Amino acid sequence: MIDGGDYVINGRKIWTSAAHYADLIFFLVRTGEGTRNGLSMLIVDAKSPGLAIRPIIDIRKEHSLNEVILDDVRTPVANRIGEEGKGWGYAKALLENERAFAAEIPRNRNHLATLRRIAAETIRAGRPLIEDPLFSAQIAELEVEFLALEFMTLRAMSQTGGGPSFGSLLKVRGSELVQRITQLQVEALGDCGAYLYSAEAHIAGEPQPAPGPDFAPGIWSEAMYRRASSIYGGANEIQRTLIAKQYLEL
Ligand SMILES: Cc1cc2nc3c(=O)[nH]c(=O)nc-3n(C[C@H](O)[C@H](O)[C@H](O)COP(=O)(O)OP(=O)(O)OC[C@H]3O[C@@H](n4cnc5c(N)ncnc54)[C@H](O)[C@@H]3O)c2cc1C
Repeated sequence: MIDGGDYVINGRKIWTSAAHYADLIFFLVRTGEGTRNGLSMLIVDAKSPGLAIRPIIDIRKEHSLNEVILDDVRTPVANRIGEEGKGWGYAKALLENERAFAAEIPRNRNHLATLRRIAAETIRAGRPLIEDPLFSAQIAELEVEFLALEFMTLRAMSQTGGGPSFGSLLKVRGSELVQRITQLQVEALGDCGAYLYSAEAHIAGEPQPAPGPDFAPGIWSEAMYRRASSIYGGANEIQRTLIAKQYLEL
């Protein structure tokens, strides 16, 4: 609703990462009927009267997520991005970038290096885990998939590569890879993977419930958090539908 020179916004948005650090938040708000022409993108001052940011404590017991509640929040019409009713088009362009980013190349590379370190330093049945042919074959498989994903991402960044829904392809592959790598890290740690739960407590210097190798804290909590990677940025089931439409013409 527009009142004077302001939009007046009411609503609620769950799962907003890092909203508690934000000075400005952009919202996709309903300003008309339908999806194509009914949504507008507005920038709102995070300190506006009527705007409340409530923490959501995640499975790691950490605070990165929030629920944002808007109760008659006002923002000037001048804070609208682009044309009224065209917000979905702008949001789709942003989402395509977010999904391409979701290939998580740096994160996946770091997690693979950590996995190698854990496997090299963990002794199982009298020898380093990395020398177990079955375990090292699993690492090799993940590394090959990572390389393929890295090249797909470079292709998307090049002038000629990519195309509609290419971000969805990267998102599905990257999010599933990060889940599989972190899960294998937990398996490699064995018992230590289970009890060294909180990275935050470790960083804060709080006593851990049991001793373990210095690389163990945080592995379990990261694996738990990344269960959400197939949800955030758009659920993978929906990405698969987009891929099927775009590439398989289903
Ligand atoms: C950790 C985390 C961080 C997030 N950070 C942010 C953030 O910073 N900013 C932000 O705006 N949002 C954020 N989100 C929200 C996130 O983008 C949404 O949760 C996600 O896009 C899924 O949308 P949804 O929750 O509405 O679920 P839905 O899309 O409604 O999906 C619910 C279930 O139904 C299934 N489903 C729905 N439609 C179909 C279909 N057509 N075909 C098959 N299956 C279907 C889905 O696969 C899923 O299992 C975050 C979410 C999480 C979990």
